[in-house]
Amino acid sequence: MEKGNMELKMPPDKVSCSRLPVLGLGAKRKLDKENAPEPKKKRIRGPGTAVTTAGSRPRVSTVATMPRAKKQEAAQKAPLKTGPWHTTAATTDVKSRKPISAVSAPKPVSGVSPTTARKGPSKRPAWDVKGQLCDLRKEFSACQVQTEALTKENRELKSQFGQAEQQAKTLEAENKVLIGELTEIRAQAKQDQLELGKLSARVQEQEERLHTQEGLIQSIQEERLHLQEERRNLAARLEVQEAQLQESMAALAKSQAEITTQAALLAERTEHLHGLEMERRYLHNQLQELKGNIRVFCRVRPALPGEPTPPPGLILFPPGPNGASEPSTRLSLTRPPEDRCSIIGGLPGPPVRYDFSFDRVFLPGSKQNEVFEEVSLLVQSALDGYPVCIFAYGQTGSGKTFTMEGGPGGDPQVEGLIPRAVRHLFSVARKLEAQGWSYTFVASYVEIYNETIRDLLACVGGAQKCQGVEYEIRLAGPGSKELIVTNAQYVPVSCEEEVESLLHLARQNRAVARTTQNEQSSRSHSVFQLQISGKHMGQNLHCAAPLNLVDLAGSERLDSGLSTGPGDRERLKETQAINSSLSTLGLVIMALSNKESHVPYRNSKLTYLLQNSLRGSAKMLMFVNISPLEENFSESLNSLRFASKVNQCVIGTARANKK
Ligand code: ADP
Ligand code: MG
Repeated sequence: MEKGNMELKMPPDKVSCSRLPVLGLGAKRKLDKENAPEPKKKRIRGPGTAVTTAGSRPRVSTVATMPRAKKQEAAQKAPLKTGPWHTTAATTDVKSRKPISAVSAPKPVSGVSPTTARKGPSKRPAWDVKGQLCDLRKEFSACQVQTEALTKENRELKSQFGQAEQQAKTLEAENKVLIGELTEIRAQAKQDQLELGKLSARVQEQEERLHTQEGLIQSIQEERLHLQEERRNLAARLEVQEAQLQESMAALAKSQAEITTQAALLAERTEHLHGLEMERRYLHNQLQELKGNIRVFCRVRPALPGEPTPPPGLILFPPGPNGASEPSTRLSLTRPPEDRCSIIGGLPGPPVRYDFSFDRVFLPGSKQNEVFEEVSLLVQSALDGYPVCIFAYGQTGSGKTFTMEGGPGGDPQVEGLIPRAVRHLFSVARKLEAQGWSYTFVASYVEIYNETIRDLLACVGGAQKCQGVEYEIRLAGPGSKELIVTNAQYVPVSCEEEVESLLHLARQNRAVARTTQNEQSSRSHSVFQLQISGKHMGQNLHCAAPLNLVDLAGSERLDSGLSTGPGDRERLKETQAINSSLSTLGLVIMALSNKESHVPYRNSKLTYLLQNSLRGSAKMLMFVNISPLEENFSESLNSLRFASKVNQCVIGTARANKK
């Protein structure tokens, strides 16, 4: 028997650790002891041995060698196992030496039960060797059966052990997985913790916001209450206001009715005012006509500082029929006796007196404003639609420019007719606006030198620059009777300042021309023209007329002492041109006065340009400027004679240019 041999060969120290029963050894020893002397001590067999064997069961031993974790696992799993030694009760039994219960008792070996072994034949006598052998054989075979059973059990246990190991591995793997899971869970927990932290922060933030919102809500509610209170107050005020409005509406309705009445009255009065204005215009014109459509004013300038004092009696201003209180209209020029000597040649004759009568005579002490006062009515006629022409005639140095433009230095006291007339026109036009009239003004300023026209409103130095430019007198347009100078500046003006800047520009242009061409401004006619146009929309009336303010060239005669040098020839030409144009002016006025069929306007640029301001409906005023000096006696006499002729002329009956 292999198993039995194997077991027999086991070393004694190992046997004690083995789970196998030691019955085999006991049997061998018994065989040995057959031959050996009888031991004094009695061998104890039976249940005690079996119990000892049972107490050292493999399960206990396996458990003892397991790691603690496995032990616990095994301990947990142990009750599930089947088998004779799977309970610890056996161990307990050994220790407590209590009788083994049928359930927990070791599985009896088939064939030979321990009980049987114990209940074997009683001790055979020494001589009964055969019997003893028989017993031993039985015991041996029982042991063999038991061994087989134990071997089987061992296999089972091994298998169980393998299973347990497998299970342990599985559990270990499971454990690993669980550890992994645990790590993951921990990481997750950590992340969750962070998330939780964030969420807590957000919650805190939200709580704070909530707190703020609550505060806001509270303040809104307070505001709401306040607004409600205000609304109530406003409603109360509104009620009061509405009541007031009702009252106001009633008052307004009353006022509107009153306004309607007033408007009707106003319209009636405006109409009446317009009628009065038209009547005024008519009467004004009647007055002007009574005064004469051609008027001549004589102005004698004072002797200037540095000039010789005129001899007394040279120029006298006899009072009018109504005495000295009346404005002077008469002037007497008395030729000094020595002058006559030269004429008669010989004895000094009695002084010759030349009496002249004009519409008005301004004495040397007359101020610019006095002069303008007389002119302003005529200027008014231009606004009413009558062409007006004001000339300043006289020898060079007699005060023409002073009368027309004014004295030097820009002193308002010495402002001439042009700035004063312009200011007056703008002022009256503004007043007439209240009556429905609206006026526009366009200014131009040209110079006629040697029958050549130059624009004084060209840019500074423009008169010189524009030498190549043709300035021709042409009709303003097809079908138009208005005459204009081609290429000349026609500047719309609306205030005195604008006109003043134009006059300044003209002065500059004249100064440039004077220095570059050695020409004196007194050698040319300068024509300042203001085109006045008025409209009355309500009455559908339109009036337009020019106001011309002409500073004529010096009227002095040709100097008999002039040589025939190139400069003198030029001077001669200038003088002839001036004389020609001035005599043409006289002829034109006379032709108009005599109602001649032919009026020689074309004989000079000046009359050609001014023809519309001279004929029929025009009003003309000529200033004859006189020098008080004795040396200028002859020229003064000539000027007065010329002016006297003009003064005798009457030009038609003036008609306003009304449409
Ligand atoms: P004209 O233009 O006829 O050649 P001006 O007007 O240049 O003459 O006058 C010559 C000078 O006489 C100027 O210095 C001017 O200031 C002065 N003059 C002319 N008239 C008067 C006047 N009424 N009162 C004071 N000075 C005058
Ligand atoms: Mg002058």
